[in-house]
Amino acid sequence: MPDLAKKALAIAREMREAERRRKGLPPTPEPQEIPLPVAAGPGAAYRQALWHLWTLPPDAPQATYDQALAEVLLQESLLPPLVAQALHREEARRFHAETGRCPFCQEPGELHLDGSGGS
Ligand SMILES: [Zn+2]
Repeated sequence: MPDLAKKALAIAREMREAERRRKGLPPTPEPQEIPLPVAAGPGAAYRQALWHLWTLPPDAPQATYDQALAEVLLQESLLPPLVAQALHREEARRFHAETGRCPFCQEPGELHLDGSGGS
C-alpha cells in the first residue's frame, strides 16, 4: 500500500473514531475500502475520482486504469467546465504537495500543469 493511502486511511479512521467516541459508540473495525482524503461538497466525487486515478499502483491492469479514467471524465462532465478546471488544478497541486510527485506522469519533482509536460 502506498504511503499516501496509509496516511489517508489513518486520517479517515481518526475522524470516524472521534465521531464515534462523541456518540459513545465502540470503535469500528478497519474499513474494507480505502477512503480518500477528499472533502465533501460540490465536486467531491470529481476530486475523489482524480485521486483514485492518480493513486492507482503502477502495475494496475489497463482495465482498472481505463475505468478510473472513465469515472474522472464522467464526473468532470457533470460540472461546469471552469469549476472542473479549477478543481483539477487544486487537486493536482494538493497531490503534488502531499506526494512530491506529478500526478500526470507520476515522476517525482516538477508538477506539470496545463500540459506543460507529461499530462
Ligand atoms: Zn508530470
